[in-house]
Amino acid sequence: MIRQYDLVERVKSYYPAVDESLLNRAYVYAMKMHGSQKRASGDPYFSHPLEVAGILTDLKLDPATIVTALLHDTIEDTEATHEEIARLFGEEIAQLVDGVTKLTRLELTNEDSKQAENFRKLILAVAKDVRVLLVKLADRLHNMRTLEHIRKPESRRRIAQETMDLYAPLAGRMGMQGFRDQLEDLAFAELNPEARDAVKSRLDLKQEKSRDLVVRIADEIKRRLAAVGIEAWVSGRTKTAYSIWKKMERKSIALEQLSDIYGFRVVVDSVDDCYRALGILHGAWPMVPGRFKDYISTPKGNNYRSIHTTVVGPERERVEMQIRTLEMHEVDEFGVAAHWFYKDYVENGSKKSVSASDELVAPFRWLREVVEMLEHDATSEEFLEHTKLEMFQDQVFCFTPKGRLIALPRGATPIDFAYAVHTDIGDRCVGAMVNGRHMALRSELQNGDEVEIMATGQQVPPLSWDDIVVTGKARAAIRAHRRRAEREQYVRLGRGIVEASLRTEGLPVDEAALEVVVHDLPASTLESLFEQVGRATLNVETVVRAMLVHFTPEKKSRRPKIKGAKVAAGSERAREDGTLPRGRPDAIPITGAGVGTSVTLSPVSLPIPGDRIVGIMQPGKGVEVYRIDSPALAAYDDDLDCWIAVKWDIDADEHRQFPARIALVLANAPGVLGEVATVAGKHGANIENLTTTDRKPDVYEMTVDIGVESAQHLERLLTGLRGLKSVSSAKRVYG
Ligand code: MN
Repeated sequence: MIRQYDLVERVKSYYPAVDESLLNRAYVYAMKMHGSQKRASGDPYFSHPLEVAGILTDLKLDPATIVTALLHDTIEDTEATHEEIARLFGEEIAQLVDGVTKLTRLELTNEDSKQAENFRKLILAVAKDVRVLLVKLADRLHNMRTLEHIRKPESRRRIAQETMDLYAPLAGRMGMQGFRDQLEDLAFAELNPEARDAVKSRLDLKQEKSRDLVVRIADEIKRRLAAVGIEAWVSGRTKTAYSIWKKMERKSIALEQLSDIYGFRVVVDSVDDCYRALGILHGAWPMVPGRFKDYISTPKGNNYRSIHTTVVGPERERVEMQIRTLEMHEVDEFGVAAHWFYKDYVENGSKKSVSASDELVAPFRWLREVVEMLEHDATSEEFLEHTKLEMFQDQVFCFTPKGRLIALPRGATPIDFAYAVHTDIGDRCVGAMVNGRHMALRSELQNGDEVEIMATGQQVPPLSWDDIVVTGKARAAIRAHRRRAEREQYVRLGRGIVEASLRTEGLPVDEAALEVVVHDLPASTLESLFEQVGRATLNVETVVRAMLVHFTPEKKSRRPKIKGAKVAAGSERAREDGTLPRGRPDAIPITGAGVGTSVTLSPVSLPIPGDRIVGIMQPGKGVEVYRIDSPALAAYDDDLDCWIAVKWDIDADEHRQFPARIALVLANAPGVLGEVATVAGKHGANIENLTTTDRKPDVYEMTVDIGVESAQHLERLLTGLRGLKSVSSAKRVYG
């Protein structure tokens, strides 16, 4: 137990102007009030506030805070009152003790309520004076150190969980890394003793083996800096068991694979020396790319400042270094408390006491923001979410196995990584190892991940990747492949259409013949010709006409009957005038419209033989033929005079084709359009136009304009298309 004299001396050592009698009176008062009360451990109760005060002297806090620590449990646990404390120690201290008491009551009465709600109240209560929170954190730290004496396991667990969830992150957010480490480690020991023991024992073993190494590296750093006149205090340390466990859990890797178990702190005299030391250390050992961070020129949100770097030091160990001044070091260890000290005590060179109303320094800013958020009625869940957020970063930094740094936007996947390394690696990527483990290609990369891409010899990147990647480079590469694959489909389709038409006309079906006419057509290459026909930007009839200029068709009779399905009738005349008669109004085989009347098939109804039809007489236009169930007929409901009974007059031997339209839902894979074209060709149906109406990563929808002889013919074609594995739906649509 700290003696009265020791406590006063400690405060005096950093706060020479302290009112000793105030400290002495508080010491005696608290001891007297707690009297014969005992802790669960059997110690006198007073040992607890005394230890809490001792912890706070390590943080060099002002005398009011130390006195508050001594008195922090008197209102709650003894006969002491606010009035009495105000009378004996002043209103400022009475307010602080009151604040701590409120927080303690919150803990006692809110065991079952939601954490977030507790936390909310906690912050609201302390935002008025952060010293209340500092006392509370020290109180919690001491209670955690003596947790083993609490008899009920469920009480121990609850306290440990609360420490892990609330107090440790709070200490972290306040920049008090030392507090955070201790709170986490103590809570970890209670919540998961097996894990902690496992990590600790392996850590100890590793330390045992490399203890010399740590000393050697520290000496080496000091020696090299001394050689250029930089005096440095160097300490090697291991990360805490909990932080290592967290990392192991998060990355699912073994302790052996964890680098950065050792960190060195290099404390020098000035900011200038920090940068000089950095130069010396980078000169001595190769730096690990991407691990360098300059938090001196750009401090973290909680005002943390240091230069971070990792070098491959002696014996090829990765050594993490933090280079900083003494002030930066104390700010890191003590956070808010150190700021307090430096801001108002050292920098001003005065010995004035510090009051809560002094200007808030950076670590308090987030408290203000949090309070503001609470006042604007955020829900408790949002609040907890917010406070749990680490400093937001929109980038992740990953490494190749050789240590090359790859910076990616947050949310990036191994595919993005692969494309960032090289487009070719991206195209051929089939799998990824992240930190030595197989990971799904759609998994999100985390800061510091080491990513190894597995690639095959040749691969077309799946179109579904488009939804997974976030980088422009990856997206552009995938889309380029998609365009190429799409183009190949149209070329294949166009080739099918051209060949079928040439065969129909008895023209030579070979590329050498087609090469001859390419120059007569708006196409630079044969491939481009096929593509244009496939995309329906070039009419196949134009190609046929161009071929007719150069080649004489074989005799019609030599054509197999079945293959001559298309445009059989009228093809003689077609050769004469260079046009094909399909779709010409005067050729519509309809009776009932009256002699000499122009007949057209309604493009919004697309009737084909076999459909029940009706004619609509349009003045000046003639008769337009509709399917009897066409919704478009509703427009003529009030004008029954224009309705004319018509019927098909088909000569089955003519194999006339009529325009129909079908809607297809296709798998989004190369070759699908080619299959469709093949089926259409087999059925003697002529594809005239294709339009993609919707494209998703896995499927896409098309409408296909196709020439068929009849409704029955169309139905056979649809059945054939539905038989294709890549066709998930095929149906007739109208107009
Ligand atoms: Mn206490």
